[in-house]
Amino acid sequence: MRILISGGGIGGLALALMLRQRHIDCTVLESAEPVLPLGVGINLLPHAVRELAALDLLPGLDEVGVRTRELRYANHLGQVAWAEARGTWAGHDMPQFSIHRGHLHGLLWKAAAERLGPALKKDSRVLGFTQDEGGVTALLASGESMTGDALVGADGIHSNLRALLHPSEGGVRWQGIQMWRGAVDWPVLWDGQTMCIAGDRRAKLVLYPIGPGSAPGRCLLNWVVYALQDGAGASPPGRQDWSREADRDTVLPHVAHFRLPFIDPAALIRASERASEYPMCDRDPLPWWTQGRVTLLGDAAHPMYPVGSNGASQAVLDARCLADLLAAGDVPAALAAYEAERLPKTSAIVASNRHGGPERVIDFVAERAPDGYTDLSAVATQDELAAIVGGYARLAGFAVAR
Ligand SMILES: Cc1cc2nc3c(=O)[nH]c(=O)nc-3n(C[C@H](O)[C@H](O)[C@H](O)COP(=O)(O)OP(=O)(O)OC[C@H]3O[C@@H](n4cnc5c(N)ncnc54)[C@H](O)[C@@H]3O)c2cc1C
Repeated sequence: MRILISGGGIGGLALALMLRQRHIDCTVLESAEPVLPLGVGINLLPHAVRELAALDLLPGLDEVGVRTRELRYANHLGQVAWAEARGTWAGHDMPQFSIHRGHLHGLLWKAAAERLGPALKKDSRVLGFTQDEGGVTALLASGESMTGDALVGADGIHSNLRALLHPSEGGVRWQGIQMWRGAVDWPVLWDGQTMCIAGDRRAKLVLYPIGPGSAPGRCLLNWVVYALQDGAGASPPGRQDWSREADRDTVLPHVAHFRLPFIDPAALIRASERASEYPMCDRDPLPWWTQGRVTLLGDAAHPMYPVGSNGASQAVLDARCLADLLAAGDVPAALAAYEAERLPKTSAIVASNRHGGPERVIDFVAERAPDGYTDLSAVATQDELAAIVGGYARLAGFAVAR
């Protein structure tokens, strides 16, 4: 059996490593050349880390990432409405990692290069495919073609294969939220392993360390600001390119009303060498992903708003499910069973993320107490807050069973 994977991003590489571990032949066709460590911060939830640990990648994750110990949700004054332990501190058998996306990608790429050798191909853009009962052929931009038993589209939010399977699908969906992101060398906050999401419906600021800093007591601090823009419901401003550079001055007005005791957001943004902008986009869930020997995985299948730490994690879970089913042998049956297992679960997360994911807890408190509070229990009960945050963890499959 030979599996062709279009896209050597997080999901495509995870699938390739899992197939190789199950002694299934595969080829990764990645369009980029050179392959660069792109992006900024990303989070891997414990259930996804478990799958990467099974590929012997836990030591590598520890070298380049930060084990997330706590997550705090606060208002624009820094008053904490909800705090929860994460990863092993929450009782999971695996940690959560906050990590630079480029470093995670680099770790997976290096492992794939060692384990797949020449079957890991750069500069190989997949444009289309043909298939019949006996196999599938991937058609490359170079004019070459390659045959296999299945073709998996792991080619991201602008997936070519998705467009071919669903030619009449509308474009990406945008509800008017713009994101700005950066990472900067900064003094360690709290214990150096805590993630904080602060703000209200006007704007949110996400902070988490993703690696060591230039000196002891400093870290590489990832920040994200996102805010509702005028023109919600219109087309997103520009193509959804993760690397598009932003003017930092455009971000500052969105954090002007923050009064956080632990950080000056404007100083943080000004200190960042570079900021990128990315409209918070997704696509409507598809009715199906699989046509015979072709299927979709990760962002190609279910691009979702980057809230709740699920983009990369769900791609890794897709890969595990598909690899296990392919190991059973019957390719079309495996692809159909994979879709039956993963499509409903990921569609539910796409829908929940549109409404803010677990971050809704901040809006809930800010709506009741827009100018802050002296007694949280007079604003919301623990049960109300737990219902929002705990409900999301169950949906995304990482609630701790107790
Ligand atoms: C450059 C880049 C930077 C990112 N930065 C961030 C970030 O900072 N924070 C964050 O939360 N998420 C980021 N993401 C998205 C994040 O990686 C995904 O949401 C998540 O990890 C799911 O991974 P995926 O493998 O499905 O998609 P991706 O990680 O997007 O990988 C898709 C891969 O397919 C390749 N590809 C695309 N078209 C073709 C084609 N026709 N033929 C062959 N290969 C193709 C792309 O080059 C890419 O390597 C970034 C993605 C990219 C591509």
